[in-house]
Formats: sequence, structure tokens, C-alpha cells
Amino acid sequence: MRKTVDVLGIPVDAVTMAEAVEKVGRFIEEGGKHVIFTPNAEIIMQAQRDPELKDILKNADMLTADGAGVVLASGMLGNRLPEKVSGVDLVQEIFRTFASKGLRCFLFGARPGVAEEAAVNIIKDNPGIVVAGCRNGYFSDEECDEIIAEINKSAPDILLVALGAPKQEKWISKHLDKLDVKVCIGVGGTLDVLSGKVRLAPEFFRKSGLEWFYRLCREPRRAKRMLDLPRFMLRVIQARLTGGRRLS
Ligand code: UDP
Repeated sequence: MRKTVDVLGIPVDAVTMAEAVEKVGRFIEEGGKHVIFTPNAEIIMQAQRDPELKDILKNADMLTADGAGVVLASGMLGNRLPEKVSGVDLVQEIFRTFASKGLRCFLFGARPGVAEEAAVNIIKDNPGIVVAGCRNGYFSDEECDEIIAEINKSAPDILLVALGAPKQEKWISKHLDKLDVKVCIGVGGTLDVLSGKVRLAPEFFRKSGLEWFYRLCREPRRAKRMLDLPRFMLRVIQARLTGGRRLS
């Protein structure tokens, strides 16, 4: 049974990285379509203002905590999530775990050429993985049918959608019916990282929950959206004071 922790109305799965990967394995084996998102504090705040996004997140098959802020918030609300399971870490762990089984993936998103560069690194680091196709994330609405046909033709087990939030969540939700894949994951800037174009924060920042600070220093243009981080913590404190805690 699915065990989730309610973080401001978003049911985040109480899973470790190992459990999340195991669940992905089950999703692939049992067939059907499964959707995974990795909400961070910014996305959870966006969802407070955007009911459509909130519904999309609530209807996913697994939501993992992308960020120390979400884990901290869950603890403050009374049910601490076991650990951070960020999109980029989850994807890398999936590749490591299922490479020997010949997992097929399709990389959709990021600027032209980035998915192809990520593919080279993925295949080099995880012999056995099949990158069934790549498509950049800049397209018009009219091109969607052609992109979906390209994805379906390549028959991937997993589709990584790296269009940034909330674009990727909305794209997956809108087109899921037509997509012939077992697992769809919204992965934000993961392809930029896997291509080597963007470096992850050093271990110290990642471990100490200060990744947001590292990112702010490197990408000051994110400052405005990062205002959602203190807003998120305030909402969590408010929810705690008013008893907004639940484990389902
Ligand atoms: N992106 C894209 N199409 C778009 C907008 C963005 O493919 O129309 C890509 C962008 O090139 C980058 C990723 O989406 O690779 C967004 O990365 P970011 O780290 O900003 O993700 P977020 O934090 O929004 O999840």
C-alpha cells in the first residue's frame, strides 16, 4: 500500500531511494502507465496557486521529495520523510539498477543537442541501457503529435521529460493517454546535468540542505522564483501551528 506524507496538500511518498527504485521496477514489470514527479519546495508552492498543477501532482503514481526543504517540512508537520530522493539522483539510480536488464529510455527535453550529449554519458556510465531516442524540449503545440509518434515508435520503458516545472507536469498529464510508455518521469534540469553542461552542487551543499544557496549563487536569475522557499517554510510553520498534519 502507498504510504504518503501530506506536505501542504501534496501527498509525497515516504520512500527511500532504494524503495523508490524498487517501485519503478514494479511499475515496469506490471505494465500500464505510471507517472512520477519529484516536487521540491518551489513546485509545492506553485501548486498552492495553481489548482491544475495540484491535481496533476495528486494524481501521480509516485511523488518523491526533491530537496532538503520538503524533507524538513515533513518533519515539522509531524511525519518525516525518510530521505531526499531528487530527480537527478533517482534517474541515475534507475540507470544503474536496470542497465543490465537492457532498460530502454527516451530523453525528451532541454536545449537542442543536450539530450544527445546526455545519452553518450548515460550509455558510457551504464552499459546495457538503451537510449531509444532523444528530442529537444523546444517545440510548438502543432509538433506534439509528431513528438509523441516518435516516442511511441522507439518503444521506451521510461520516458524522461525535462521541460522544467510546471511545463513537464502539464505536458505529461495532457498527453499521457496517447503515450505508449510504462513510466513517465518529470525530471527538470536532469539532462543538463547528465550532459555535463550543468554541475550538481558539491557534496557539502547537497548533504547540508544548502543546495538552494549554491544554485542561487550560480544562477542569480532564479532569485525571484526562489522567494518561494521562505514562503514555503512560512506556510509549513502556519500548517504546523494550525495542526495541518496527516499521514495517509
Ligand atoms: N526546457 C525545455 N523546454 C522549455 C523550457 C525549458 O526543454 O520550453 C528545459 C531547459 O532547457 C532545462 C529544463 O527544461 O533543461 C529546466 O531546467 P530547470 O533546472 O530550470 O528545471 P526546474 O527547476 O524548473 O524543474
